[in-house]
Amino acid sequence: MTAGLLAPEAILEGALAGRRVTADEAVVLLEQAELTDLAVAATALRDRHNDPARASYVIDRNVNYTDVCNVYCTFCAFYHRPGDSRGYVLTREQLAQKAAETRAIGGTGFLLQGGVNPDLPWDYYLDLVRFLRHEQGIWVHGFSPVEIQMMAKLSGQDLRKTIADLRDAGLGSIPGGGAEILVDRIRKKIAPLKGNRDKWLEVMEAAHEEGVKTTGTMMFGITETLAERIEHLAALRDQQDRALARTNGGGYTAFAAWPFQSGHTPWEGKVPKPTDVEYLRTIAVARIFLDNFAHIQSSWVTMGRKTGQLALHYGCDDMGSLMLEENVVSAAGTCYTVNRDEMERMIRAAGYQPWQRDNVYGTVPAG
Ligand code: SF4
Repeated sequence: MTAGLLAPEAILEGALAGRRVTADEAVVLLEQAELTDLAVAATALRDRHNDPARASYVIDRNVNYTDVCNVYCTFCAFYHRPGDSRGYVLTREQLAQKAAETRAIGGTGFLLQGGVNPDLPWDYYLDLVRFLRHEQGIWVHGFSPVEIQMMAKLSGQDLRKTIADLRDAGLGSIPGGGAEILVDRIRKKIAPLKGNRDKWLEVMEAAHEEGVKTTGTMMFGITETLAERIEHLAALRDQQDRALARTNGGGYTAFAAWPFQSGHTPWEGKVPKPTDVEYLRTIAVARIFLDNFAHIQSSWVTMGRKTGQLALHYGCDDMGSLMLEENVVSAAGTCYTVNRDEMERMIRAAGYQPWQRDNVYGTVPAG
């Protein structure tokens, strides 16, 4: 055991008694805690934030409005470079078709992300969210921080005004994509043009200041240390403390973590895929450490159905999206999709009542 630190059992006991777990203690949990002890503690804490009987899911569609991108992340098998004739930007007709298909199965929203496409003007984004929200009736959970940074440059405005304009046009919430690991040593290796840790956090802070809800994510298993993994979680927890203190409705709704998918990227064969056990340990410690997050999502899309179901017993209360489309992950060779019946069956088989939520964890109106 690390000198001066409590044993894992005592750390978990403290967490269950309401004591906040420190970063050093969370590393001890990742390294040393018994898997079953983590499951018991994470489930008890999950049940304090959520209805213990149910697990939620959302019907939305992962729409990549363009695959043209000038950020060139080394792990990405999805993008085309500006000027490449294979690149696309979805037309209004294609977007309307996707919206109609989503509504037809009881879906409520789009997870809408690019490509960081240097050829699209600022007005394009405002028109895009207006069209989807007001003409198509689709909740837009849209634009990762690197896209919003680019929009701020395009519009000549600061981040808060950029986000306020998007919100006023119809943007509902912002996904926490591109967080990867919020440690610059790692970011420089895997996504040198994506902006440093502070830039990612600045976008989230500006969103929260504008009363906009966001999600927090982590892509792990890309050569970071366990302490760096916890450093990432600590940055999110600190930010959520500030968001909740503002009481303006802004803040993180949920956290999701998934392991790096190296297939078809320059990292293929160079980094081992985290095991299912490592995923379950990581997600359970996240539930325990992120004491100010209401929801933790299971990443069944990358981990597969069985591990996704198991994660509901390691602190997760939500199965995320049906994933009507998942271009980025499928480009890297991993993609699991299900329909609503299968999703509900998966949740029931894991011992919970399924509950369809909207993109910000509200109830979906009947009909
Ligand atoms: S992950 Fe996103 S930002 Fe990075 S290259 Fe791919 S599309 Fe571009």
